[in-house]
Amino acid sequence: MKVAVFSTKSYDRRFLELENTISKANHELVFFDARLQPQTASLAAGFPAVCVFVNDDLGTETLETLASQGTKLIALRCTGFNNVNLKTAAELGIKVVRVTEYSPYAVAEHAVGLILMLNRKLYRAYNRVRDDNFALDGLLGFDLHNRTVGVVGTGKIGQIFAQIMAGFGCHLLGYDVYPNPNFEKLENAEYVSLEELWKRSDVISLHCPLFPETNHLINQETIAKMKSGVMLINTSRGKLVDTKAVIEGIKSEKIGYIGIDVYEEEDKLFFEDLSTTIIQDDTFQLLQSFPNVVITAHQGFFTENALDDIARTTIANFSDFEQGNPLTNQVTAS
Ligand code: NAD
Repeated sequence: MKVAVFSTKSYDRRFLELENTISKANHELVFFDARLQPQTASLAAGFPAVCVFVNDDLGTETLETLASQGTKLIALRCTGFNNVNLKTAAELGIKVVRVTEYSPYAVAEHAVGLILMLNRKLYRAYNRVRDDNFALDGLLGFDLHNRTVGVVGTGKIGQIFAQIMAGFGCHLLGYDVYPNPNFEKLENAEYVSLEELWKRSDVISLHCPLFPETNHLINQETIAKMKSGVMLINTSRGKLVDTKAVIEGIKSEKIGYIGIDVYEEEDKLFFEDLSTTIIQDDTFQLLQSFPNVVITAHQGFFTENALDDIARTTIANFSDFEQGNPLTNQVTAS
């Protein structure tokens, strides 16, 4: 099947082409650097399938263009599907598939990495030592052992994250709309209300999807309920956090640390080298100016294992559609 692959980076091409060959699926993959959005949707003319990533825009306008050009399948090479208007896609007869699952260790381990980096100020220590500054002032951290860690969303990634933090000897507070029986089997783990999680956690890590009801879950009001000096970690979706409220929280010293791998306006920044341009996003620039903030550019998923899994499922999704098999990874509007 002919597939237009959007937002292509060298690693997407490498992993998808390899899997296309190994699996003998032999799809005709055409790679575009461009992000899929209304202005670029015409590139997909004549392609029955498009393959997209987290920041491609699959709103009504793009979908209508795709449908008018004969596209019948959208294959997301990620788990989240908040960038697709599923209702419009269904009305236009376009099926949407995703990668329901890939190495959950990749994102969970990245979240833990952010915690260690912030707590022990490794980003500062690394630069200091390179500058022959061996002083320790300003690098004081705390033991994670015995600290309370709140996990919002105890699905695949949240559960692995909780397991790792249990290994550090942390107390775990979970919140999920669909509790996971494995979470409570961990030592020192219990489900609590969100209110209690905000109130009791030293570290809060977000692992729930972005839905209208979780948009700006971290806001002025919820921050006010947290412990002073709380550490916030977001490796899930940027819009879970109201960045302006977080900036106020940092300035008032209510928030002691924040580590994010996702940002609410990341579609204008992430995945590109903008090092020689002037960034116009003042909120982002202010956020990264604080000494207790660590930002990575949506790299939680970026391990060889995860990219292998993503490529395998994505190529299988194309093949299932082409052969008229049941689409096990289909997402539909609820
Ligand atoms: P998952 O579906 O296995 O788990 C999500 C959990 O969140 C589920 O248990 C669900 O019941 C729960 N949930 C749903 N609504 C909730 C709410 N209102 N409050 C609390 N919990 C709620 O998904 P996953 O594979 O664990 O992925 C979690 C998120 O991680 C994804 O939605 C995605 O946004 C993000 N993610 C980020 C990266 C990255 O590179 N940074 C990569 C993959 C996924």
